[in-house]
Amino acid sequence: MSDPTPTSSDLIEFDKKHLWHPYTSMTNPSPMYVVESADGVRIRLDDGRELIDGMASWWSVIHGYNHPALNAAIENQLKKMAHVMFGGLTHQPAVDLGRKLVEITPPGLEKVFYADSGSVAVEVAIKMAVQYWLSQGESQKTKLVSLRNGYHGDTFGAMAVTDPDNGMHHLFKHTLAEHLFTVSPGCDFASQDYLTEDVEAVEALFFEHHQDIAALILEPIVQGAGGMKFYSPAFLKRIRALCDHWNILLIADEIATGFGRTGELFACTHAGITPDILTLGKAITGGYMSFAAALCTEKVAIGISEGEAGVLMHGPTFMANPMACAVSLASIDLLLGKDWKADIQHIKTCLESGLASAKVLPQVADVRVLGAIGVIELKQPVDMQKTQAMLVDEGVWVRPFGKLLYVMPPYVMNNDDLNTLTTAMVKVASQQ
Ligand SMILES: *Cc1c(COP(=O)(O)O)cnc(C)c1O
Repeated sequence: MSDPTPTSSDLIEFDKKHLWHPYTSMTNPSPMYVVESADGVRIRLDDGRELIDGMASWWSVIHGYNHPALNAAIENQLKKMAHVMFGGLTHQPAVDLGRKLVEITPPGLEKVFYADSGSVAVEVAIKMAVQYWLSQGESQKTKLVSLRNGYHGDTFGAMAVTDPDNGMHHLFKHTLAEHLFTVSPGCDFASQDYLTEDVEAVEALFFEHHQDIAALILEPIVQGAGGMKFYSPAFLKRIRALCDHWNILLIADEIATGFGRTGELFACTHAGITPDILTLGKAITGGYMSFAAALCTEKVAIGISEGEAGVLMHGPTFMANPMACAVSLASIDLLLGKDWKADIQHIKTCLESGLASAKVLPQVADVRVLGAIGVIELKQPVDMQKTQAMLVDEGVWVRPFGKLLYVMPPYVMNNDDLNTLTTAMVKVASQQ
């Protein structure tokens, strides 16, 4: 039996000794804040302090914490069944969510594969692409092309297509599949055109290697964990055309950008394109649990199914978990049931005005906003622990990363809270 009322220092002590956290050390663990509960846009620490959440728990909690409609979706499903295997069985939450995803994602994406996390969805997407070409008798088409500054997850297949310098290639280079890397697009979001040299670099790579390339994978419009960079839809449009020309599939990883974050429901819509394969995750459940999906076109699905294997060789134990499907459907209904575009636009305006004064700070290299994403890029990397503590003292939860102070708040955040958030960010930037 565990102690019925462990104190906060008991929790922290065990945590420090025994629990891994994302990207942390077991010999030099970073300090942890104990969360007691979370509601709306507020995270409540066990010492009673409340923090305004600027991270949406890494892009995912778009409607805020402890939302009655999302709680109800899970509770109702729980009473029917928490889980049932998806091999040989199906259920209404999976069907209803599948119908919704096919309806709202870019036209042409017809077939839905449910996965347990974003990284797994990326693994499935890569497998789909490679298996598709195998089925076409092109077994040499196994290479992926990926953009510099790209991020696609932490599992081995996903790591292999994540930026080789930002990412973990130097540590794992003998274990990782060898893929091809090309530019990080240099055209900012507002520019009408791509940079010619960027597109020429992709063309040159395709020209030389197209016979071996299965797919190009990218994060449309926003490169997230690789540097919070925004690029022009013109580049994405051109890449779609080049992939078609060279017989290369396009995988759009919308695990971070999906469900409205950039101002369109999906970032691909900024460029009016449909990828051959699309990955979704993070906000899909409204941040309630780990869940993801990989969608593909009829062409890809038929190609795979008519090949030698006859089936897509993947099937997670918790595939299409009914509670995850039910809460995803409720989250999407909640989003589409309101004027979400106006909400995102409103947050954008608040972030722009709230962060504007950071532009003139000597410590700041750039300030940028797209949709409900706000970024202060500093000239030097921050001292993570010190900066984290300063932000907590200001009453906000913002997790700095390298040179970046960035936020992607829940869509339900009001003006006062947005103002507190951006004021804290600017103040902390000025103290670097
Ligand atoms: C977060 C993320 C992933 C990985 O998702 P996990 O659920 O953490 O495995 C993959 N691609 C992108 C673009 C992401 O932002």
